[in-house]
Amino acid sequence: MKNIDKIFENNKEWIKTKLDDDNKYFDKLASGQDPDILYIGCSDSRATAEEIMGLGPGEVFVHRNIANMASNLDLTAMGVINYAVTHLKVDHVIVCGHYGCGGVKAAMQSQDLGILNPYLRNIRDVYRTHKDELNAIHNEDARYKRLVELNVQEQCINVLKTSDVQIAVKDRGITVHGWVFDLATGKLIDLKIDFQAILKDIMEIYHLD
Ligand SMILES: [Zn+2]
Repeated sequence: MKNIDKIFENNKEWIKTKLDDDNKYFDKLASGQDPDILYIGCSDSRATAEEIMGLGPGEVFVHRNIANMASNLDLTAMGVINYAVTHLKVDHVIVCGHYGCGGVKAAMQSQDLGILNPYLRNIRDVYRTHKDELNAIHNEDARYKRLVELNVQEQCINVLKTSDVQIAVKDRGITVHGWVFDLATGKLIDLKIDFQAILKDIMEIYHLD
């Protein structure tokens, strides 16, 4: 995007297209939201949320940050989860990572990245938790991809550890999904993480019930 003014021209075009399609489009948009899904994804400009899922405005509540993190110390992420689960009453929480994630790549290197150091340490902790599995993968690209997947898994676990999600699991059977978006093919991949087994495992430590 070289000319920022072009955005306003694009916006006019978009309004026209929407109204041509449905003249009540913006009345409906202004009347409120009732999304079924909370999507936690990466801020990467190539990993858009609604577009890759084929969903439109009003259908998904979105939180994006570097490397799709759901750290319990991140007030923004925790606020989004609380609002989406407790007030919007979404039935699904998706954590979606992507192969080729710059945040995950940076965490694999031992570079000093200033303010990002404590942030990336959360991903380095994922590496440490799974270091036996990761170190056994000799191909660097394959190891990088696996860390993307394991980071999604760990962020899903972070989501499950929140009391809001715990209550919603009990009350209405909310489900948490771990996905990866493959930029090279456009495919969304469901990691089919066995959360029941993982939860059973971590319950002893975190006293979730
Ligand atoms: Zn990313």
